[in-house]
Amino acid sequence: MRSDSSYDLLVIGGGSAGTTAAMTAADLGKKVIVVEKDKLGGTCTNVGCVPTKVLLHGADLIRAAMKAEAYGVNTERKDGFDLIKEHKNNMTKEMRDTGVAALERAGIELLSATARFNGHRAVLADGDLIESENVLIAAGATPLLPPIEGLDSVDFLNSTTALELDVLPKSIAIIGGAYIGLEFATFFNTLGVETTVIEAFDRLAPNEDDEISALLTKALKKQGMNIFINTLVKKVEATGGGVRINASSKGDALQIDAETILIATGRGADLSSLDLESSSVKYGHKGIEVDDHLQTSGAGIYAAGDVIASLQLEHVAVYEGWLAANNMFSTVKTDRDYRVIPRIMFSHPEVASVGMTEDEASAENSIEVLNQPYSAIPMAKINEDTTGLIKLIADRPSKKLLGAHIVGTDAGNLIHLAALAMNAGIPVDKIGATVAAYPSLSQGFFFACEDLGAKIGSRGKGRSQASGVRE
Ligand SMILES: Cc1cc2nc3c(=O)[nH]c(=O)nc-3n(C[C@H](O)[C@H](O)[C@H](O)COP(=O)(O)OP(=O)(O)OC[C@H]3O[C@@H](n4cnc5c(N)ncnc54)[C@H](O)[C@@H]3O)c2cc1C
Repeated sequence: MRSDSSYDLLVIGGGSAGTTAAMTAADLGKKVIVVEKDKLGGTCTNVGCVPTKVLLHGADLIRAAMKAEAYGVNTERKDGFDLIKEHKNNMTKEMRDTGVAALERAGIELLSATARFNGHRAVLADGDLIESENVLIAAGATPLLPPIEGLDSVDFLNSTTALELDVLPKSIAIIGGAYIGLEFATFFNTLGVETTVIEAFDRLAPNEDDEISALLTKALKKQGMNIFINTLVKKVEATGGGVRINASSKGDALQIDAETILIATGRGADLSSLDLESSSVKYGHKGIEVDDHLQTSGAGIYAAGDVIASLQLEHVAVYEGWLAANNMFSTVKTDRDYRVIPRIMFSHPEVASVGMTEDEASAENSIEVLNQPYSAIPMAKINEDTTGLIKLIADRPSKKLLGAHIVGTDAGNLIHLAALAMNAGIPVDKIGATVAAYPSLSQGFFFACEDLGAKIGSRGKGRSQASGVRE
């Protein structure tokens, strides 16, 4: 058994939060070891962002090819599922290899083992006893199972096993209509699988602004998805050809049959392997508890990423890993700050948002709201892609954006215009004064800011309306 106490930082978990913290500490000249029980790169690289976005890229290409028929391109649809999966596997490997190479170049020691606490800042990693000045817990989260009767008696998929399907099912029922469920729904539906989404809340994408969610739902239904909202799944049972879902919707009983089901009802920290009882780290049902500097109740022990109760996003895990490493090696500590965190749902149409929803903003502020439909953006018309909405919410006194919500093509790129403006504190009339190039989808954002500034300032028509480039 090896016993080593020479480390400045021991990282548990080689995902986005852990590897970022390790690289940050190595950059500060610290001696770092990362213990990872599975594949380096964690959820995002291996079973999250990267593989799902490759699948969705495949779906995008199929949609574009079908649309191209109207422009004289002949398309013949083949079963390309195996090819898409090959792309997914290659990209996942490439991203993982790039990450491992970067850690090795930085001189970080990598240990393939399961780490569990063995006292304060001491960890047993498959037989090795490692003690360190600082520990970062970055153990991530795993899919949660809802309390549904009969789940143990049927075959079901989760976001990880759905990536390993050998053959596409004829039909799929996805339980959970938030971003993971809707991204998979978009993929399966585009590939011709009869797709049903069941959501317990009164709308899809319940964390998004309600107007955005309404437009998204309408678009998904138009694409042929079966959508059930306000619907609680009570029981599942095997049938000859698949699974029968017994649900209730506003008091009515409902049965939905599908060849397979996918559970996408959220992810939670899995702390079982860490043996936290032998450390001084406090945790609750949402994950490990941390203060504003990301330090746990144990001195010198920090936590970051999905393992703490914040936003479960890759860029948040990276931000927290970076912040935790800087805080542990600095006398000046910085508070975590989540005010401007953009998020994207890669459904079709795409949804992206940053800051507060209208309901959240109006609870505390005097606000002005502006809705800019894609149908009034020249580039969207040219692309024959007018299903979309840019919704901006500004604080009346300061004219600064409090939130931005976009549904439509390229929402995930456009949202960064709003994130930048919010981060820099630029008032909407100043943003609207920017001359935006014609034709571009970005113009829609600047139109919206121009109009919002005019609305707050009670001015007349903005420049873009006066020019007649839009209605
Ligand atoms: C299907 C899906 C799609 C997603 N798409 C996006 C997206 O498009 N954009 C986005 O921003 N986010 C996305 N996410 C979320 C994103 O992947 C996570 O928020 C992010 O990966 C969290 O990083 P992390 O470092 O906290 O945890 P992880 O990446 O999960 O890393 C934790 C690591 O710790 C290891 N570990 C756990 N316990 C131990 C132990 N005891 N000893 C050693 N190792 C241990 C695990 O094996 C794991 O590798 C997606 C997630 C899923 C599931």
